[in-house]
Formats: sequence, C-alpha cells, structure tokens
Amino acid sequence: MTLPLRPELKGLSPYGAPQEEVAARLNVNENPYSPPPAVVDAIANAVHKAARGLNRYPDRDFMALRVDLARYLGAESHVDFLEPHNIWAANGSNEVMLHLHQAFGGPGRITLTFSPTYSMYPEYARDTLTEYLSLPRREDFHLDIDLSVAAIREHKPTLVIVASPNNPSGTALALDDVKALAAACAEVPGGSVLVVDEAYAEFRRRGVPSAASLLPETPHLVVTRTMSKAFGLAGGRLGYLAASREVVNALTVVRLPYHLSSITQAAARAALAHHLELQAQVDEIRAERDDTVDWLRAQGYTVPETDANFAYFGPLKDRDAVFRGLLDRGVLIRVVGPEGWMRVTIGTAREMAMFRNALLEVTS
Ligand SMILES: *Cc1c(COP(=O)(O)O)cnc(C)c1O
Repeated sequence: MTLPLRPELKGLSPYGAPQEEVAARLNVNENPYSPPPAVVDAIANAVHKAARGLNRYPDRDFMALRVDLARYLGAESHVDFLEPHNIWAANGSNEVMLHLHQAFGGPGRITLTFSPTYSMYPEYARDTLTEYLSLPRREDFHLDIDLSVAAIREHKPTLVIVASPNNPSGTALALDDVKALAAACAEVPGGSVLVVDEAYAEFRRRGVPSAASLLPETPHLVVTRTMSKAFGLAGGRLGYLAASREVVNALTVVRLPYHLSSITQAAARAALAHHLELQAQVDEIRAERDDTVDWLRAQGYTVPETDANFAYFGPLKDRDAVFRGLLDRGVLIRVVGPEGWMRVTIGTAREMAMFRNALLEVTS
C-alpha cells in the first residue's frame, strides 16, 4: 500500500527511551518514589467523584485546576502576582510545548534552542512545520550569551526555548541571562516568545531563582513546569505554564476542546493538594544527587553542576559498551548528547549503589 505520508516523516521511528523492567530504572528522570498511600487514596477518591460526572464534557477552561496551579507555583517560586488567567495546562508539558508551537510557530518561522538539550524540541517544530535551529552550548554546557543574543538578532526566531535546568546537562540559567535573552526577543520585529522550560525546577539548589520572578516585567516570557518529575506524577500527564494573559489567550485558540479530561483534572488537583507529601523526598534526591556528582568526580569524570535530578558525566571511551554493561547488571541509564557523555537519573540510595558498583565493574 502507498501511504501519502509527509515526505519529512518517511523512515522516522517514534521517539521514546526504552521502558524495561530492570532493577534500577535511571533513564527518564522519573521520581523513584511512588505516591504515599494517603495520597493514592486522595487521588482515587477525587477520580471516583469525577467518574460520576463522566457523561458530561469536562470544564474546558479547567478553572479550578488553574487556581490551584497559580497558588502552588506562586508559593514555590515566591511570587505573588500569578492569577488563573496567567496559567495554562495540558497533558504533560510536551503538549504545552506543542500548543506554543501551534500558536507561535508554523511555516516560515524558526524555533531556536541550544544543544545539547531536550530531544523532544525538534519534534514539536517538525510537527508544526516550524524550522528548527539549534546552536551549540559552550564546552561547559552553559549558554554563550553573546552568541545567543546575536543569533536571536540574526535569525529572528518566533520561539526561543531554553531548558533550565537543562536536560541532559543539569545546567541552570542565571536570571541575568534570561533577561538578556528576553531583551533580544523583545526587539524581534513581529515578536518573539522566550520559553524557559523549568521541568526540573523543584530540584534546584537553594538560592537558584525561578524565571517566574521575571514574568510581570516580561510579557513575552513563558515559564513551563510539569508534575512529571519532582511531583512523582509522570503517569498523570500534567504539564503547565505561567505567562502573560495575552500568551495564554493565544493558546486557548489552538488547543483541542476538552483536552484535559475530568479524570486528569481531578487527579492533578488532588495531587496539588498533597504537594508536600508528594515532594517529601525531593531533599533526599537532591542530597543523593550531590553525593553522586562528588563520587563521579572522584572517579575522574567531568560532571557539570546540576540543579536537576540527574547527573551528566563523561568522557567515556565507549559509552554504548558502558550502557550495555550497566544494563546487563540491571541498571538502565541514558546515552544522550555529545559523544562520550551519559546521563544518570538520581534514584533511591539502593539504586545509586547499584549504579556505582555496576559502573566500577564495567569500566575496570
Ligand atoms: C521530562 C521533561 C519534561 C516533562 O515532560 P512531560 O510531558 O511534562 O512529562 C519537559 N521538559 C524537559 C526538558 C524534560 O526533561
């Protein structure tokens, strides 16, 4: 059969890291702790209640959830100006990003990012027929701000996406750098939206601020977040953003009606009401991360400072062999980014001990 597949999709396979049942799953930056029983009950009760109304379409503006998200993000980032109309949400921040591309990307337009970075970004661009341009980060994985600002001036992207902390390097972006990028975006004729992807924000080290604090003075700034990582709710599929009312209004136009099911809304609200219990182990994960970084450095690896729940390390002579050796020992990590580098998600103390032992065996 001949299918009229879009030529640029020919021969492509679907994105996705391996989902294997191994002892230590340290490859997709999940929270290793399942929700505590009391929170499981709260979510189940909320879903039970929502199920009684499943004959009706959900609130397509999910106002109650937006109120809760505004309150949570305001408290988490120490900002007091967020209103429900500043909040947007979808099925994972992946879908939030797709909405941003549907509204602000498209044919003849450019999305600019800085590599190595999250491997989904080119897919949002491809799926919305937006041109994707990725400039290299510095050797230490920080942005070269002068080069980045110059690139915004030259290419006039309608979307600039920076992950902070960055995946896979863990590198966070300083507020002054966000300001410099935002200033360059403000000068792009016709407008440009700066998206700071803060999927890992809750893991940042003390004193590292969130770009959310810049929102009032920066109407074209968007800060995206997710419940997939620190919340330990990757299976719940809930991502969100904070932005100006104008940006949020534009997104309401491109979303499919009723994109957030009543079940999703109910589960997310119950989870938000229990965010302290769900994030009870974030401090533990942070401490485990810092220990992992110290240990890797003591073994001679280079490890960039990380504000996320993973560590990026290298150089490895044959990373594919290391990947297979670790997998043989029940430890699944990730081969990603430039040659010689690997990323390990921070799991439980037991999982990290498995990782350390396996890595020593494989590289000895
Ligand atoms: C994990 C991750 C996300 C989260 O995606 P969801 O769709 O919310 O699960 C977003 N951005 C980056 C950089 C990530 O690594």
